[in-house]
Amino acid sequence: MKSTSLARIYLVFLLVVGGIFLPHPPASAHSPTSYFTAGKWPTSQVISYGINIGFPTGSWRSRLVEAKDQWNNSASTGEPKIYWYLADDVNHGSAGDPCGISGFNTAAIFWNDLDYLGSNWVAATRLCPQTLNSTIYNFTIEFDSTRSNWYSGNADNPGGNVDFWSVATHEFGHALGFWEHIPESDGACPDDSTRATMCPSTYLGTERQRTVSPHDVHTFDAAY
Ligand SMILES: [Zn+2]
Ligand SMILES: [Zn+2]
Repeated sequence: MKSTSLARIYLVFLLVVGGIFLPHPPASAHSPTSYFTAGKWPTSQVISYGINIGFPTGSWRSRLVEAKDQWNNSASTGEPKIYWYLADDVNHGSAGDPCGISGFNTAAIFWNDLDYLGSNWVAATRLCPQTLNSTIYNFTIEFDSTRSNWYSGNADNPGGNVDFWSVATHEFGHALGFWEHIPESDGACPDDSTRATMCPSTYLGTERQRTVSPHDVHTFDAAY
């Protein structure tokens, strides 16, 4: 029986005012061992996921599709891809534990109250089994259902809102095994339109992280 550690849950923090500067060392650029520290999917894995009961319909689901396609469209031969193959609105409960979902490759996406993680959390991704050098076989992504300032459209994100598409692309990156964030201090994380998707935070009222950047892609390529 495999087990998982839930001690490390990644998310996007909100930056409400300006930027933050963390004392990260320089990124060891593009090294899989620096970024894919929670295991990898098998070569050429087709990763299926279902949407849990309660997840909003319409534009929200459209953004999920577009988010995973950012990674699929940039994937090279041998790299895993994500598909929405499972039955819609499957009931996987509410825990968001990817090891608690029965079966191989039955990942799920939840619309959950994440207040238990703190007020700034907008989403969280977990992997199973989530250990160094492991073979990943499931994931869960939870989006905060209590947040009033989500923007689920695909036009310019109005000021003050959290861009759902950007957050979804970021979380799918984690789900694919891109576990560690590119450090804020890295040149790939500027406060402008070139900001990489896998930077650790997102700016309100922007839509910069909807599409994967060259740094996201070549780090992913280096791992797979
Ligand atoms: Zn993250
Ligand atoms: Zn790079």
